[in-house]
Amino acid sequence: MSLSKSNDDSNREVLDSNSDTNEEDKNELCPGFKDVDAFVKHGFGVVLSATKASAGLPQPGDEFDFYRSFPGFQEFCESQGDQILQCMSQIMQHHGCRSHVKDRNKLTAVEERFDLVVDSNDVILERAGILLDEADGVNRNQKPVMPAGFQPPKIVSPLFQSETFRLLHAKNIARPQLKFKEKIDNSNTPFVPKIFIKPNAVKPLPSYFTNKQIRNERPEDLDVPAALADLIHQQRTQEHVEDMFAHPYQYELDHLTVPDSLLSKPEPQMYKPIAETKLSFIDSLEDLVELNEKLCKLSEFAVDLEHHSYRSFLGLTCLMQISTRDEDFIIDTLELRSEMYILNEAFTDPTIVKVFHGADSDIEWLQRDFGLYVVNLFDTHQGSRALHLARNSLDHLLRHFCNVDSDKRYQLADWRIRPLPNEMVQYARTDTHYLLYIYDCVRAQLLDSNHGQPGLLQSVWNKSKDISLTVFMTGFVPHHLVHYVGRLAFCRGVQI
Ligand code: AMP
Ligand code: MN
Ligand code: ZN
Repeated sequence: MSLSKSNDDSNREVLDSNSDTNEEDKNELCPGFKDVDAFVKHGFGVVLSATKASAGLPQPGDEFDFYRSFPGFQEFCESQGDQILQCMSQIMQHHGCRSHVKDRNKLTAVEERFDLVVDSNDVILERAGILLDEADGVNRNQKPVMPAGFQPPKIVSPLFQSETFRLLHAKNIARPQLKFKEKIDNSNTPFVPKIFIKPNAVKPLPSYFTNKQIRNERPEDLDVPAALADLIHQQRTQEHVEDMFAHPYQYELDHLTVPDSLLSKPEPQMYKPIAETKLSFIDSLEDLVELNEKLCKLSEFAVDLEHHSYRSFLGLTCLMQISTRDEDFIIDTLELRSEMYILNEAFTDPTIVKVFHGADSDIEWLQRDFGLYVVNLFDTHQGSRALHLARNSLDHLLRHFCNVDSDKRYQLADWRIRPLPNEMVQYARTDTHYLLYIYDCVRAQLLDSNHGQPGLLQSVWNKSKDISLTVFMTGFVPHHLVHYVGRLAFCRGVQI
């Protein structure tokens, strides 16, 4: 005892005598780590050695059964197992999650324990996401907004009744992912564009995307651990790497020019009053096909998306709003997720202008969830910035050009709710209903403010095109591949 004390004291003396170290100590992120990088590096090392060690354990089946016949091995496994469960349980408790995993005697079914771990991972990752957003300056209101009088469905599972549950809304909504035709890819394999037919192609789609066999054998669809999927993926796709990381419409976008008609001053075409505008809710393939045909005949239409990312790691596009000069459409993209790609016919038609407000995220979500791309984009947010308006948000443009007071209350609503409450439908349609008129006004003002010269307007078309050239990425993107890609949108991806 006294020996260890004197050791401590002498250590302290050494530290005290070294004022530099002391100074560094004060700046440390947490004890022993001078900054986040050092901590992450150490963390990766620890995770890697744990993964290696677990890979070295006897395999389930004969090998494991053989080892287990030795009492020493059996005892060791049990004590280590208890320690791991104890540790997991503490982490889960720390995050306020349910944590019965360590309760061996209760014989909690493996699947149920697995669910607990998955749920806890969701909560922890979501919290990390919120903190990262906060660090980025995004202030996410954590409580989803519900229309007045809207009651979330009652809790059905007795499992959750006794728990302090802070994510009530999410637990009560059937996860829409469950009915998707394709699995959600949470592996670390790089995101591969979902496109398999390319309407309006000047340059044909590379064979990688059209060859069904290669696509159908995506390792993330196989029932193998994520690390193995990554390896299989790398080996299989080496020869297609260049195609996989390129924007499928890069060639078409590089050769897109703005016609003179879109660089000259338009006469703003007043929007139709909401009350006199037909609204269609699209949730069947027939209606989607009909909408696509309608859109293909137009020279412009407005688009917006609503997205949910409260708990699911990558997020989900829940709704697409489209407005033409005459009609509003709301597409249930949870229902039509696997069919949305048909809209590429209109979305990539270079003769049709697609008007978005603040399209950066939308372009990523369109690619990630539907394999949709935009050729000929006009982003009114970029227009507003070029005009140096007081603020560049959509509600400001609505007030400025349309004298409409929009209620942004539902921006952070849980858009997975079905049937969609009327208040949310009305909110959603407002996001696109006025956008074509705003597009006219912004173009006219860009020309006016530049003495009728098209330079400023042209710069907005160029900025919009840059946004549409964004390539959505996830997973581990090997460093040597990065030069293949023009503009990357890493969605919590890791570049190595
Ligand atoms: P909007 O383009 O304003 O309709 O927003 C589209 C989606 O982006 C919404 O459905 C939200 O999921 C998300 N979003 C919008 N604004 C915010 C915000 N301030 N913080 C976090 N997410 C947002
Ligand atoms: Mn939007
Ligand atoms: Zn919106």
